[in-house]
This record gives sequence, C-alpha cells and structure tokens, in this order.
Amino acid sequence: MTTRYRIALIPGDGIGAEVLPPACAVLDAVGKRHGLTFTYDSFDWSCERYAAEGAMMPADGLDRIRHHDAVLLGAVGWPGVPDHVSLWGLLIPIRRQFRQYVNLRPIKVLEGVPSPLAKATSDVDFVVVRENVEGEYSEIGGRLGRGFPDEMAIQQSVFTRPGVERILDYAFTTAQRRSGDVVSATKSNGIIHTMPFWDELVKEAGDRFPDVTWRQEHIDALVAKVVLDPSRFDVIVGSNLFGDILSDLAAAVAGSIGIAPAANLNPERDHPSMFEPVHGSAPDIAGQGVANPLGAIWSASMMLDHLGHPEAGAEVLDSFASVLATTDVRTRDLGGTAGTKDFTNLVLEGIAGR
Ligand code: ATP
Ligand code: MG
Repeated sequence: MTTRYRIALIPGDGIGAEVLPPACAVLDAVGKRHGLTFTYDSFDWSCERYAAEGAMMPADGLDRIRHHDAVLLGAVGWPGVPDHVSLWGLLIPIRRQFRQYVNLRPIKVLEGVPSPLAKATSDVDFVVVRENVEGEYSEIGGRLGRGFPDEMAIQQSVFTRPGVERILDYAFTTAQRRSGDVVSATKSNGIIHTMPFWDELVKEAGDRFPDVTWRQEHIDALVAKVVLDPSRFDVIVGSNLFGDILSDLAAAVAGSIGIAPAANLNPERDHPSMFEPVHGSAPDIAGQGVANPLGAIWSASMMLDHLGHPEAGAEVLDSFASVLATTDVRTRDLGGTAGTKDFTNLVLEGIAGR
C-alpha cells in the first residue's frame, strides 16, 4: 500500500533553493522503502518576487497551500529587503494562519561534528519548544513624537491563557516521551506582568503533569547554563522571543547553523505544518553549491515524524549521522571541502544500502 502526500515547496531565497532538492531526494529515497510517495508543488515566494511584484507571496497564497499535507521551506531573506518584510510578508502569516503555534528545534551534538564548546559531547540531546504565534512578536504598539527629543516607541506583548497553556501542554507532553524534565525560560524579575503570568501557568502545567519534573530559570542565567553545561537539558520551553534566542544559541552549540532543523507545528493538524532549516539564505555562499543540506534534510525527517512515520524519520537521521561518523566528507561550514551534492549523494547511498 502506498500513502501519498502533497508537499508545498517554498525554496525562497539564496541557498534555500540549493538545500530543498537534497531534502526532497532524501524523502523520495526513504519513502520508497516505506511505501510513501511525495508529490511536490513549488512556489516562487521570495524576496526576488517581492522586488519584482511588491509582495513576498500572492494575495491568495495561503489558500494555495492550505490543503497540502505539509510545507517545506528553504529560507527567505535577502540583502536590500528588510528582514521584517520576509518575516511579516511570508513566515509569520503562514505560522499564524495555519496555527503553527509550536516551533520545535531538536539540539543534538552529532558524532563527527565538533561543537564550539569543549565540554559538549554526544550526551547533548534536548529540544527547544518555542511559542510561535503570540508573545513579544506582536503588531501592537507604535512610535510617538518622531524627531522630538522625547521620541518613543512602545511595543506590547500578548500572552493569552489558551496560547500559553497549549504550548506548555506540548512541552510537557514532549517531556513525557523523553526524559521527563522541563525547564521554562522566564524573566519575571524584570518583566512584571506577562512573565509572572507565564510562570503561574507553568506551575499549573506542572500540576497537570505530575510525572514530569520542571523548574524555571531566568533567561539570562539559562543561556549561560546552556553554554556551560548543555547536557543537563531535556526540554526547554520559552516564549516567542526567548525561544527564538535559545534555539539559535543551541543550534550554534550543536556545531553549525547549517545542521539545525526546525518544525513549525500545528498539533491539531487542521492545517499543514511547516518544516524549515534554522539557517537563513546565506547570501555569502549562495549559488556556489557549497551549502550544507543537513538542516533541510533533518527538517524533512521531522516532517516524516509529524506525518506519522517516525521509523522513516529515524532512518533519515541515522543515515546522515552515519555519514558524519564514518567518513570525513564535510561541507565548508564544518571545515570540509565537499559540495552540497557530494554530501547529499553519500546520504542517499546510505539509505539505498540499508
Ligand atoms: P537571514 O537574515 O536570512 O537569517 P543571516 O545572514 O542572518 O540570514 P544565515 O543565512 O543563516 O544568516 O547565515 C549565517 C552564516 O552561516 C553565513 O556565513 C552563512 O554562509 C552560514 N551558513 C548558513 N547556513 C549555512 C549552510 N546551510 N551551509 C553552510 N553555511 C551556512
Ligand atoms: Mg538571521
């Protein structure tokens, strides 16, 4: 029996278009072994489109991908186009409209990939669960008195009980499937309305999940601990802003931003979820065929998990982990000379040889 999936591809800008084909090739290869067929519809939504037509995506863009089973995104962003355009013109509408309120980022130090931290070894294995649709990244606020000496800017954060409860439930449920420990990022000593509310809801979640241990840490102390001893974490949950910072930091701890994967999940599955490498469009290396495809490939493996095929997802992970552990073929970001295709071919050979 074959299970068919329709995937919306948004290569985006720069190396986005170079790392998605490897991810699709890996999906096809592993799909063959597991009775899964993928058809891909590609959309040219990007900063290039913005430059030509004044919008990252067409007005009915979301409707065009609403009925796909998942979205695979490369990267959006390009010099000359302000970051908030690619963010608010594409990524944030998709995340919000499709209620992808979980941003999930696994952090693992893989054998054969040196971490910048001497102490980080393969026992570093945790996930960052970031709230993805509310919190600090709101549209509420404004600028007053432009050009006057007392000019000011005001930005409101929005934390809703349902919004915080559902991300905490996701984090605690994830911990139940892992080692059963949650650390919540807070800053309730400085941010005195939203963060104490967040802390209260964390305590309530802790009561709902008596089998999970939890504690909270102020974000400033927490980032220091992630650097000093990353092996002590299982699940870290944070608001939109804190989760963003933590997950980029953690990706760096794992060795290279070129490896780090991310999933924007709609846990209710009433809309597609979106999978994207953590890295950006990398204009400095775009077009050279040297980008590390691993972040995109790992993201595709998270897509397999989400679609209900964790064995296939794990096979992808094993395949690239074994390339890293048993060969010295590396892309430039990991100190090697291999191109995107060289590395991808080894992963594909690994899958074919299983
Ligand atoms: P954006 O604004 O789109 O996030 P950025 O410039 O902030 O872009 P990245 O595009 O992630 O960040 O690039 C940061 C650095 O990491 C660059 O030097 C880039 O070449 C490198 N880099 C990012 N992704 C990869 C990759 N997949 N393979 C190799 N190097 C990468
Ligand atoms: Mg960036």
